[in-house]
Amino acid sequence: ADAHSEAADDSELAVEGALRPTSLAEFVGQQKVRGQLELLLQAARMQDRPADHILLSGPPGLGKTTLAMIVAHESGRPLRLSSGPAIQHAGDLAALLSSLVPGEVLFIDEIHRMARSAEEMLYLAMEDFRIDIMVGKGAGATSIPLELAPFTLVGATTRSGLLPNPLRDRFGFTAHMEYYEPDELERVIRRSAGVLAVDVPPAARAEIARRSRGTPRIANRLLRRVRDFVIVHGDQDAGATEADVAAALELYDVDPIGLDRLDRAVLDALVRRFRGGPVGLNTLAVTVGEEGETIESVVEPYLVRIGFIGRSPRGRIAMPAAYAHLGIPRTDGALE
Ligand code: ADP
Repeated sequence: ADAHSEAADDSELAVEGALRPTSLAEFVGQQKVRGQLELLLQAARMQDRPADHILLSGPPGLGKTTLAMIVAHESGRPLRLSSGPAIQHAGDLAALLSSLVPGEVLFIDEIHRMARSAEEMLYLAMEDFRIDIMVGKGAGATSIPLELAPFTLVGATTRSGLLPNPLRDRFGFTAHMEYYEPDELERVIRRSAGVLAVDVPPAARAEIARRSRGTPRIANRLLRRVRDFVIVHGDQDAGATEADVAAALELYDVDPIGLDRLDRAVLDALVRRFRGGPVGLNTLAVTVGEEGETIESVVEPYLVRIGFIGRSPRGRIAMPAAYAHLGIPRTDGALE
């Protein structure tokens, strides 16, 4: 849940870059999506044209940016990185699109946060590789058409439900990224441990995987904290033990099933303060002092996935597994 704080740290970002696989073959898991992308890229390659536009949706840290880089790499095309929040006016997008070289892959992260005016420009650009530039105002305004170089748009979003249908419909292929299974995370960890040159035996790998919230980015981050712990407190020849993993991650407030401080704060508020709900998401967000968007795109999806939170028409409710994890008996009525 603290993907955001990590983004501020340049050296951690550099490490993240070093851990990115550069080919589909190296990309762990998401077998379905990989197969679909492979076909799409191969067809484009055989016809020597840019691949269709691709939309990747799913929670942060599941590999959307990595896949965009792989799309560019595997099709031998340059890659341009941008993001929805950086496109606040149609003019921002016009500048970006008109500077693309033929066949370039344009990655727009958090595409649901792009300005509305830019969205409309993007429809035409995606469909016809053309935009209309408005000059002048009022009755004297005219639009000047501008031809663009053909490109492949790769959009990423944590909230595909927020994309307007006309935009969603213009992607030739939409992939929903799923949380990773423990054995897949173990493979991510094994690969990353190799890159970082730390010895993480299988038992420790499994322990890190269990605590990674189904998310490769978190697995990589926890691995780095375990590495630190082993360097300082452990036996570097023996490598990381399960006890090292447990001690290191406890220090960073990661519990045995991978929930962090914010996850637990949300559960705690839901169970104690709101007596199991139902409660609206924004109320919950305010109670734990976080933005609704973070709760909705980062915290909630995983808690729903592991059966701790349910969605009802009147709001979020705590499920029995959440009570069990917090060690709170389920009683109807006053808990405080
Ligand atoms: P997103 O864009 O979805 O937030 P990223 O592509 O930035 O996620 O991935 C976060 C980190 O997790 C990167 O360091 C990346 O190397 C790693 N990662 C993500 N998916 C995979 C995967 N399938 N196999 C190996 N590493 C992965």
